[in-house]
Amino acid sequence: MPQITGTTKLLGVIGSPIGHSFSPAMHNAAIEHLGLDYRYVAFPVLPAYLSTALDGLAAIGVVGCSVTIPHKQAIIPLLAEISPLARAVGAVNTIRNTAAGWIGTNTDVAGFVSPLAAMRRDWGQTTVAILGNGGAARAVVAGCHQLGCSNIHVFGRDAVKLAAFSSSWQEELLVTGTKLPAPVRVETHPWDELSTLISQDNLLLVNSTPIGMHPQVDRSPISAELIRKIGSNSIAYDLIYTPRPTNFLQLAKQQGSIAIDGMEMLIQQGAIAFELWLQQPAPIDIMRQALLQSLKE
Ligand code: NAP
Repeated sequence: MPQITGTTKLLGVIGSPIGHSFSPAMHNAAIEHLGLDYRYVAFPVLPAYLSTALDGLAAIGVVGCSVTIPHKQAIIPLLAEISPLARAVGAVNTIRNTAAGWIGTNTDVAGFVSPLAAMRRDWGQTTVAILGNGGAARAVVAGCHQLGCSNIHVFGRDAVKLAAFSSSWQEELLVTGTKLPAPVRVETHPWDELSTLISQDNLLLVNSTPIGMHPQVDRSPISAELIRKIGSNSIAYDLIYTPRPTNFLQLAKQQGSIAIDGMEMLIQQGAIAFELWLQQPAPIDIMRQALLQSLKE
């Protein structure tokens, strides 16, 4: 790694808690590989200090940051500008420091899409079932819409949150003039209605809940009995990247589904952020190796 000197520039991630983040390993490996005079640091920022932290990071010339839980939504009103996609999604996961102030964007959407886009071009016949209606589910809806999936269904346990999820999409897309081909059509359902959809052919079933994430590795967002009903040509996509594979993906694979975990999404969203900050191609293989190594440790 090049030495830290008086000219070394900073990148980082803001979140709380942040000690578990794999982003420093991934980005510093890329920085080292390219011999850049940069360091990527994890900054623990409590919600009450978000605004102060942004001012401080700008004051010391931090070039850009990843933004993670719990700041992805709360940061929006504090930024000078956000991209239409981030506004439509309602979440910012990447900011860069400009003369006009912090500019925010969302690279989770492209990160989510990446492994799917590498599989095939035509997604028009695919039905999407998304488990959960939190922040990541919003990136998944935008990503599926970009791919051209016309049937997007979201399953949640809270009727009020589901209704807000559905209506916010329509409104935001109409008022912000996002580049997404509007309107996004999202149908929301109570959790138990998944049983009527799961046996459809050509289903993309996405887990955007934290169920099954380390340390609760024996859990799955849906029962083994329900997963046994999954239709043919299905894809199970779990946004979780630890453990690999999750219980959900193991069960789906046993039924013949293609299984995708959240690791590639994590790498790709980071690579796109890296390119935004440094204006040069990210060494994706190096970032992947560093992440795999960190996951093993
Ligand atoms: P979030 O905003 O907290 O949303 C979580 C969603 O899961 C909510 O809809 C929540 O429902 C639902 N949920 C939680 N526990 C549940 C349960 N026991 N039964 C039913 N529903 C439940 O979190 P997020 O930011 O969307 O993240 C979700 C997952 O995606 C996390 O595991 C995160 O690590 C992963 N993720 C991965 C990447 C990547 O790069 N691979 C990127 C982003 C996120 P309520 O709203 O009703 O509580």
